[in-house]
Parts: sequence; C-alpha cells; structure tokens
Amino acid sequence: MSFSLVPDVLFERYADVTPEFLRSHGVSLLLSDLDFTLAAKSTPEPDEALRAYIAALKDAGIGFMIVSNNRSGRRVKEFCADLDVPFQGHAGKPSPRGLYAAMERVGAQREHTAMLGDKLLTDCLAAKRAGVLALVVEPVGGPVTAWQKVLHALQAPFKAACRRKNF
Ligand SMILES: [Mg+2]
Repeated sequence: MSFSLVPDVLFERYADVTPEFLRSHGVSLLLSDLDFTLAAKSTPEPDEALRAYIAALKDAGIGFMIVSNNRSGRRVKEFCADLDVPFQGHAGKPSPRGLYAAMERVGAQREHTAMLGDKLLTDCLAAKRAGVLALVVEPVGGPVTAWQKVLHALQAPFKAACRRKNF
C-alpha cells in the first residue's frame, strides 16, 4: 500500500484519458470521480461530450464506473442513471474500500484498473492505497471558491513532481 500524493499521470481534462492510453497501460476498468472531474458541481446532467466519451470507452471494451464520496446520493444517482453507468456512492475516499467494492462488482484486478479524479487527498490517495493506476485531471471549470484555490495551490508541488517523473 502506497501513501503517495503524486499521481501516476496528470491530464488537463478527462477527454485526454483516451481508450488508447488506457489500453496501452493494460486498463480494462476506469473508475472515476464525478464532481470537478467529469463535470462542474453545478452541472445537473451529463453533456454530449461526456456521453460520447463514455460511449467510446464502451466501444473499446473498457468498463467505466463512477466512484463518488457524495453523500446526498441523489445527484450522483440521477447523473449516472442518465449516463447509464454504474456508480459506487459513499466511497469514503481516501479509503480504498469504495474502489475495492467497485472492482469486485465487475471482477476487475487492480493491475487492470485506473482511478481518475481531481483531488490528490481523496482520489489520488485512494488510488495509491488500492494499488491502481492514479490518474489526475485539472478541476473542471478551474478552482472557484477560496477553499478550492487554496487546495489547488497545495496540490501544485505534487503535480509538478508527477510532471518531472514523466518527463
Ligand atoms: Mg472531485
């Protein structure tokens, strides 16, 4: 188990995590955070770009599941129902248990699983602890609130370390 906050690979946006990239890393299951990773928090329903992205993953034979810490459940449930993708709520990231539960549901091994998210302290750390590929994107819509800006600044050195590692 690793406690690193340095992502394995950093992307600008989820669409850059292509089926080709995932295949080349042996990934057959992509787990993803929802808020600020796939959509801004205020976005009630998935847009066409996200629908097309998930359709492309399905066409490539790559499983996709949303793993969210969202406690209200309703937003995630409605968003995922609209997308026709399974979700694991109350994931408790950075605990790896939500990721384990998601992997177990589809019988995926950790070496063939990746976790995509925007927060190092929850998404990335959960990925590292679960032993899956840790993929991180810049937050959709950028940091807006004061807290998001602080978090963004705190994450910067770890993202820089990731860029250096992959240079
Ligand atoms: Mg998020």
